[in-house]
Amino acid sequence: MDFQLNDEQRAFEDAVKRFAQKEIAPGVDQREERGEFCPEAWKKLCEYGLPGLVIPTQYGGGGASAVDAVTALIALAEAGKDFSLTGLWATHMLLASMPIADLGNPEQKNEYLPRMASGDLIGALALTEPGAGSDATSLSTHAVRDGDHYILNGSKTFISNAPIADVFVVVATVDKGARANGLTMFIVERNFQGLVTGKPLKKREADSWPTGEVFFDNCRIPAKNLLGEERKGFQYMLQALSWERLAFAPYVGMLASNLKDSIEYSKNRLQFGQPICNFQLVQAMLSEMKMDLEAALLLTYKLAWKKDQGKDISMDAAIAKTFITEAAERSSQKAVQIFGGNGCMKEYSIGRNLWMSKMGTIGGGTSQMQRTIIGRMLTDR
Ligand SMILES: Cc1cc2nc3c(=O)[nH]c(=O)nc-3n(C[C@H](O)[C@H](O)[C@H](O)COP(=O)(O)OP(=O)(O)OC[C@H]3O[C@@H](n4cnc5c(N)ncnc54)[C@H](O)[C@@H]3O)c2cc1C
Repeated sequence: MDFQLNDEQRAFEDAVKRFAQKEIAPGVDQREERGEFCPEAWKKLCEYGLPGLVIPTQYGGGGASAVDAVTALIALAEAGKDFSLTGLWATHMLLASMPIADLGNPEQKNEYLPRMASGDLIGALALTEPGAGSDATSLSTHAVRDGDHYILNGSKTFISNAPIADVFVVVATVDKGARANGLTMFIVERNFQGLVTGKPLKKREADSWPTGEVFFDNCRIPAKNLLGEERKGFQYMLQALSWERLAFAPYVGMLASNLKDSIEYSKNRLQFGQPICNFQLVQAMLSEMKMDLEAALLLTYKLAWKKDQGKDISMDAAIAKTFITEAAERSSQKAVQIFGGNGCMKEYSIGRNLWMSKMGTIGGGTSQMQRTIIGRMLTDR
């Protein structure tokens, strides 16, 4: 067993961190303050070649491993401190591009992946509906076959990237009564007749990573845009779409940057005639942040390594997702505490991570649902 990245992986990590520090970190506060998608920041990621990092090379991507993917996601989030941009990228690459790479036929891959790898097309995954959140099998967006098309009706909400996406991987049902056995996936382009997106939803934070609604009003989808097979959508979500499970790696970068910033602040802030890092109660908070970071790193790399080995990651993914996002929330609370009053001021960006980490415990399946999944697996329910 080897707990270290190899030289090549370490060099890649360093390179992404240097890029992030130079190109992404400057202006992040202003971008969040504006609260809208920043095309210039996305262009920088594209020029650096990140949008297609794990897309197979034959479709213009980097063909990187899961270990490389989490290394880059953590490095970008940590050194760039632009959690919104990192999340936007993770959504595009892991939630939208890789389902097409894993389930698409050669025509679909040739049609979409090269332009998704270059970042010319931005992707989103549309599953959640106003009436179907944790209970994803109860969704009511309905697809009916009509000759060489499907007609789609319904609506989606809380969809990351929706306001700016060009391509949506949509989960609908072809048979509502069949619940899980009716779920079917489609590749839907923004310009297909009958698709409309709403205004970006205003979140507590992270509005430069836009979230929104998608409406389908007799939306006509060519039948060739069926992704995989009809009625297999639930099975795909459980087993095939394992890249999506790595999308929480940026929270490990958040844990690392919270700790680094808190150490620096605590060394410079003087109270009672000495740096606050001299106080054991402050040291205890830093120690707990470090323990959470180390555990999150191990869980993330174990998950990515198992994925690269082709092993089943269902249990590991639920454990990692829950632990990492909750650890990020704990760490963000402590960071604000260490910054004291300054932690509550917008002038200091540390407080932003409180809401961002909270969103992590909800999006992609809540902590309660992850615990339910783990519990069911443990007891064969
Ligand atoms: C920032 C953000 C980005 C998102 N991005 C996307 C995206 O890109 N694509 C997409 O499809 N969706 C996305 N979502 C939606 C997200 O996946 C859902 O919000 C999430 O699955 C929870 O659904 P809900 O909000 O309807 O909450 P509900 O399902 O209504 O849950 C409310 C509460 O009840 C609890 N609960 C519900 N059922 C149970 C149960 N059986 N046992 C125990 N507790 C239960 C939940 O844990 C939660 O605490 C995003 C959400 C957020 C916040």
